[in-house]
Amino acid sequence: MRSDAYYQYRGGHLYCEQVALADIARRAGTPCYVYSAAAIVDRFAAYDRAMAGVPHTICYAVKANSNLSVLRLLAEAGAGFDIVSAGELFRVVKAGGDPGKTVFSGVGKRADEIEYALEQGVHAFNCESADEMRLIDAVAARLRRPARVAFRVNPDIDAQTHKYISTGLRENKFGVNIADAPALYREAQRYENLRVTGVSCHIGSNLLKVEPMLEAVDKVLALVDELRSGGLAISELDLGGGLGVAYRDDEREPEIESTIAALCARASGRGLTLHVEPGRSIVAAAGVLLTRVLYRKSNGDKQFVVVDAAMTELIRPALYEAWHDIEPLRLIPERGNVVADVVGPVCESGDFLAKDRSLANVAPGDHLAVLTAGAYGFVQSCNYNSRPRPAEVLVEGHRWREVRARETFEDLIRGE
Ligand SMILES: *Cc1c(COP(=O)(O)O)cnc(C)c1O
Repeated sequence: MRSDAYYQYRGGHLYCEQVALADIARRAGTPCYVYSAAAIVDRFAAYDRAMAGVPHTICYAVKANSNLSVLRLLAEAGAGFDIVSAGELFRVVKAGGDPGKTVFSGVGKRADEIEYALEQGVHAFNCESADEMRLIDAVAARLRRPARVAFRVNPDIDAQTHKYISTGLRENKFGVNIADAPALYREAQRYENLRVTGVSCHIGSNLLKVEPMLEAVDKVLALVDELRSGGLAISELDLGGGLGVAYRDDEREPEIESTIAALCARASGRGLTLHVEPGRSIVAAAGVLLTRVLYRKSNGDKQFVVVDAAMTELIRPALYEAWHDIEPLRLIPERGNVVADVVGPVCESGDFLAKDRSLANVAPGDHLAVLTAGAYGFVQSCNYNSRPRPAEVLVEGHRWREVRARETFEDLIRGE
């Protein structure tokens, strides 16, 4: 296993900070998500150090992990937030986050969501179309509250990531074509209730290469210069999120502090306030999904490890062909390894956590940890097959507590 300051084996037992994960599995049950508070706060601090020299806000992308306790940790550390729905803003407010440090992204904001965001006093809308601009102006007029707006521009850059999480190409639904942006900014000047002060971009998620990010910054800076020379007062630049994480040993992730410092250096000297919107790079490695082995079976020469977690808890392998390392909570070296598919109970052939994977030769009743599962894990869980969603646990030093209870059967039928 990749060694990590937050998840380590001690005496053959896997720990999160100072807590043995087997204790959590036994007492909270499985499947269950576990997050290290220190891992989250430390990664946020790396962003903060990288940006210390420029006026900035780090807007944590709520969609990566929206648990209230995670949001509260980040709010207390000074984070702002990047939201993509009114529901996410509701969570930010409930967690004590500052709407004034929150930006509203997303390609399909509804009028009621724009209204709620204005009432709560969000900092800005990252606007993605001319239609949306007109709607924001109309809602702002009705509420008599001017709306700060940045256009999310699409710099037409291949982020070199999985096709479902690449967003910066012209063929993607996101943003406005960077070539069309100047005309849009000029049009926006005519709307009385808009304050168009920013430019934003976000080219994709899980970016492992720095070059596309630098290329995007350069293109967007050229746009800022062009808009300014046309008389527009652009004071804010939002560089989006997307920094990748290494899910497997042969991947190298961009180091947060040096990468973000390099991006900021590119953009410095123009008097811009910088925003970033990191999600995955803050929470992914901070979380694991605990699961219990139900059965072993083989069909001919193929081996299966059937576990109690499924695509309903972690859909990333099925949706993005994602790889997650899977490690036993207790090391028993004499048992050796097996090559197997790790599968859940859901009635879909796409329901797997790993395929043809060499892993510990586990037996029924053993516990496993699916690593690097803190981002886009629980938030994409669902009730398919009428499976109650799992518990979530937050570890702080030698203490741990449930920060979301496992759903009950009653939860499953609420509202029906
Ligand atoms: C998803 C998203 C993010 C966060 O992306 P990560 O890859 O998790 O850092 C940031 N900004 C916008 C607009 C997004 O859609």
